[in-house]
Amino acid sequence: MAADSTTAGRPAVDRAVAAFAPALIAWQERHGRHDLPWQNTRDPYAVWLSEIMLQQTQVTAVIPYYRRFLERFPTVAALAAAAEDDVLALWSGLGYYSRARNLHRAARLVVERHGGRFPGTQALLEDLPGIGRSTAAAILVFAFGGRAAILDGNVKRVLARLRGIEGYPGETAVAARLWRDAEALLPESGLAAYTQGLMDLGATVCTRRNARCDECPVRSLCAAFETGRVVALPTPKPRKALPQRRTMMLVLQRAGEILLEKRPPAGIWGGLWCFPEEDPGADPVAACARRFGAKVVPGAMLPVIAHGFTHFKLDILPQPAAVKSWPPRAEEAGRLWISPEDALRAALPTPVRDIIMQLIGHRDGSRSAGA
Ligand code: SF4
Repeated sequence: MAADSTTAGRPAVDRAVAAFAPALIAWQERHGRHDLPWQNTRDPYAVWLSEIMLQQTQVTAVIPYYRRFLERFPTVAALAAAAEDDVLALWSGLGYYSRARNLHRAARLVVERHGGRFPGTQALLEDLPGIGRSTAAAILVFAFGGRAAILDGNVKRVLARLRGIEGYPGETAVAARLWRDAEALLPESGLAAYTQGLMDLGATVCTRRNARCDECPVRSLCAAFETGRVVALPTPKPRKALPQRRTMMLVLQRAGEILLEKRPPAGIWGGLWCFPEEDPGADPVAACARRFGAKVVPGAMLPVIAHGFTHFKLDILPQPAAVKSWPPRAEEAGRLWISPEDALRAALPTPVRDIIMQLIGHRDGSRSAGA
C-alpha cells in the first residue's frame, strides 16, 4: 500500500490493504472514542442529526448543540412538526445554516414519504436534502448495521496520506480515486468499529497539522509516512484570494428595543433575523426615511465586525440610530421590535449576535459608569 498505484495489484499491496482494517479496528477498540453523545445508539434520527452537525464543525462545538436539539426535538416527527424559526434558533451560532434548513425539510420528507421511519438504503437516504453519499453511508453503518464507505473531510486526509494520493481532493478525478480506495479498504465485518476508527484516526491522530504518526496504528502501511509526504498531503486547494465585501447594518433603537428583519429563505443567512442592511456609504437618516418613512438620529458607529464566508469576506459596519418617529406603515410582517436580551434567543447570524452583545455591554457599561 505504501507505494501507491505504481504497485497496484501486486500481492504485497493486497496484503497491506487486507492489514488496514484489522489494525484500525483493534486500535479503535482500545484507543478510539466510545462515549460521544451520539455513540451507542442505533436510532437513525440521532445518528443523522450528529452527522449533519459534524459536517464542517468540530466535535466539541457540536456536543452542546446536539444535546439541546435532541432535548427539544427528540424524534424526527417532533422536528418535522416544528416551526422553521425554532429550528434555526436552536442552530444559531453553529453556522452553515443551510444544514439546519435541509435538516428540517428532510425531517418533513421522512414523515411524508416514509411514515416517520428513516429509509435503510443508500439511494433513499441520499434522496433527502442535505444527505450526501458519505453521510448516507455513516447512517447505514451506525444505524442499520450496513456496509458502506464514508469519505468526509477527515477521511479524505487519512486516505490521501495512507495511499499517497496527490492532487486536491475537491477535484473530481482525485475524489473518484479516494472513493475507490475507501471502498476497497472496507472490511467484510466490524463496519461500525472500522468506520468509527477512520473518524477517530482523522480527528485525533492523523490530524491536519502535526499528525502523530508515532502513535498511528497503520504507520507501517502509510505511503505518506514512508515517503516523507505527511505534511504535503493531501494537496491543498489551489489558492484563490477571496473577494472582500462591506455592508452597513442599521442598529435601530426605540424604547429599549431593536429592530430586526427576517431575511428571505434562500441565500446568505436565509430565514435568520438580521439588522436592516444598507450600502456602506449610505446616509442612515436618508435610508431610514426611504425604507421606513422613519426619522432617526444616528449615533457613533460601533466597531467593524469581520466575518468570513466560504466564498467571500465581509466587513460589517454597525450603525446605531435612535428612532424619533416610526410610522405605522413600517410595522410589517417580517419586522420585529424586540429587546436585545430576547433577541439573543432568536435565530441570529453570529455577527448580529455579536453586535447585540456589544449593545448590551455598552448599555450595561454606561449604567454602571453612571451608577
Ligand atoms: Fe496519518 Fe501518519 Fe498514520 Fe500516515 S502514519 S495515516 S500520515 S498519522
